[in-house]
Amino acid sequence: MTPLRDHSVSELSDAALAACVRFLQRLIRTQSMPGEEGEVAMLVAAEMRSLGYDEVGYDEAGNVIGLIRGDGDAPSVMFNTHLDHVDAGDPADWPHPPFGGEVHDGLLWGRGAIDIKGPLAAQVHGAAQLLAAGARPPGDVYVTGTVQEEVGGLGARYMADTLRPDLVLIGEPSRNEVRRGHRGRVELRVQVRGRMAHASMTHIGRNPLTVLGRFLAALEDVELPHDPDLGTCSIAPTLIGTDQASGNVIPGLAEVTLDCRTVTGQGAASLRELLLPALRACEIEGSSTDILIPRHERRSYAGYEMTYPADNPALSLPADHLAVRTAAEVLAGPLGAEPPVDVWDFATDGGHFGLAGMTVVGFGPGDDRLAHTVNEHIVIDELATGIRGNAALAFHWPALYARAS
Ligand SMILES: [Zn+2]
Repeated sequence: MTPLRDHSVSELSDAALAACVRFLQRLIRTQSMPGEEGEVAMLVAAEMRSLGYDEVGYDEAGNVIGLIRGDGDAPSVMFNTHLDHVDAGDPADWPHPPFGGEVHDGLLWGRGAIDIKGPLAAQVHGAAQLLAAGARPPGDVYVTGTVQEEVGGLGARYMADTLRPDLVLIGEPSRNEVRRGHRGRVELRVQVRGRMAHASMTHIGRNPLTVLGRFLAALEDVELPHDPDLGTCSIAPTLIGTDQASGNVIPGLAEVTLDCRTVTGQGAASLRELLLPALRACEIEGSSTDILIPRHERRSYAGYEMTYPADNPALSLPADHLAVRTAAEVLAGPLGAEPPVDVWDFATDGGHFGLAGMTVVGFGPGDDRLAHTVNEHIVIDELATGIRGNAALAFHWPALYARAS
């Protein structure tokens, strides 16, 4: 058992914060859409090397992995964020250029400021605070950046099979609060086949849109699973289409995409089973129906290929779980008080790590409500708190967790 040490690793000098801000600016100025993370991965690896990480490298998928070796037998911990971001849309809609990394009145602006380059910078520099203080963590500390989180988690799916830390700290923005889970995200494609016909001859055609309309109405009454930690599963129809381009033809095929937010223990297959009876009950004579689970074929910038279903698992730990409680306890130091514990609204790579059996907790700077918007920015003071929080977690969390276990 490693005793809890009291080195003050979470004191952050102005120079160290300024270095982190400059790193974040470089990250924001280097675009990294899913599948195009190569240059940002190199930036992250170079920063880790210059900060003195013991080992820095890439795995086959192109994820970046930095290691700071521990000097005790405390559990290993992996700090994780992703390297990609979503599209910025029209730059003219932004108050400041999305890839400028500009600072105005203590706010750093740009795509990725909070999702996810701000939290990424806070993890890379947070763990390095130990090295700067001449301290070693009590167990191994990994800091990793995964590819293609925004498109289903190719990088995390690969990493969940290849790296096995005892604890995982997901850095998605949490306003420097503790997060203990989120709902999963599943996509389903509802397919209805009818009979194509001239639109003037409705008695000949079998309109699949009639079935689809009935199903969308019936969907409101389907009883969906509830989870005491994550709330209720939700389903939103999002995309709709037919096999027709002409307005005077009864289509032969109609499809609707369902965005489903799932709770623990629920996946694409079980959700499909749940919805099929409601769909079948909406069929008309001459129609047939099915629900498909789309599969995505992805290739990473490093050339790694993977095909996976549109099924991203939910994640949850109970509020009184030791990993959650000890993380909040450690953060009380740098934050001045124990932070609130809640769940995220959105899915993260943590679902893949949780599904693989790892213990996953969330903490990251930034207001998650700004994610994927044209107002994305990070408050530099919050970034500083994030760095200090990560430093304290890297140093104290695994040992405290092991002591309390
Ligand atoms: Zn993210």
